Amino acid sequence: MLIDGFGRKINYIRVSVTERCNFRCQYCMPEKPFSWIPKENLLSFEELFLFLKIGIDKGVNKIRITGGEPLLRTDLDKFIKMINDYRAGIDISITTNGYLLKGVAQKLKDAGLKRVNISLDSLKSEIAQKIAQKDVLKNVLEGIEKALKVGFKVKINSVPLKGFNDDEIIDLLEYSKNRDIQIRFIEYMENTHADKNIKGLYGKEIVDKIREKYEVKKIGREGSSPAFLYELEDGYRFGIIDPHKHDFCENCNRIRLTAEGSIIPCLYFDEAMSIAEAVKKGDTKATAEILIEVLKNKPEKNRWNESLVKQELSNRAFYQTGG
Ligand code: SAM
Ligand code: SF4
Repeated sequence: MLIDGFGRKINYIRVSVTERCNFRCQYCMPEKPFSWIPKENLLSFEELFLFLKIGIDKGVNKIRITGGEPLLRTDLDKFIKMINDYRAGIDISITTNGYLLKGVAQKLKDAGLKRVNISLDSLKSEIAQKIAQKDVLKNVLEGIEKALKVGFKVKINSVPLKGFNDDEIIDLLEYSKNRDIQIRFIEYMENTHADKNIKGLYGKEIVDKIREKYEVKKIGREGSSPAFLYELEDGYRFGIIDPHKHDFCENCNRIRLTAEGSIIPCLYFDEAMSIAEAVKKGDTKATAEILIEVLKNKPEKNRWNESLVKQELSNRAFYQTGG
């Protein structure tokens, strides 16, 4: 079992397979053009898998594939199959912007992918385009329908932003509710890579908007999930991911691996240790030692809490950590 320096059990790895993306979301990587890390610095699937196997052997039972946009990586289904063939019970999921999902959903399902989280920030074509800096809505909506059709468990991720989509919270909630999909509204996490004019809504502001139409009951955090769940009168549940809250990190059960091979203990901080050299040599022992070292130093909590975030911004790039 993997345990960090604060006694938290780590059973969840989020692995980024690329930092590249076909969107330029204002809150993530707004600049165009963008300078990418060279392709030769990416770990191969075999190298990423060497690390995952160490985790799985030590009790990791949840793996989320993310990016950048993970569907840009060729042969992703083969990577999923590698994991699934190694341990069939692993909960393998993906976070995607959905743009390319329609064409590959069935292949990913057949390979062993179980769950898909799709980012949907707006149901208005021009707002979706303004946020992603590309005309994306039609493809994303088709991706969601296809994901449901092939039988994935689907969740929607949505980041409410002032002046962009803050008038669509009820619409996004109802879109998801009508399809029996859980939506999770994510508080915008301030960082130095985002457009500096972006302002997000805090969880309370999001719930208050939903309360204008619905009665909302607090449920609580579900296990180690970062989402705080709320319930409408008809039993439909939605989540708020609220890293600005103090209790958010208490049950953190995850670490992240970037596409270049850095293990990141916390989404907020710059600290990371590279396993690239070790996995390239196929050195399982050295890789495992680096993992143990990272866990020892996993921070107790992030610094997005409301007063600290005004003093300094996180330098972490979401397109590298995978969110
Ligand atoms: N490209 C995929 C996508 O957009 O779903 C996967 C990677 S993206 C970094 C993962 C999640 O992080 C997305 O749901 C996205 O909305 C969220 N995200 C990115 N930047 C964020 C920020 N600054 N604050 C909050 N959420 C953010
Ligand atoms: Fe790309 Fe996802 Fe970042 Fe948007 S949030 S730019 S889709 S990685």
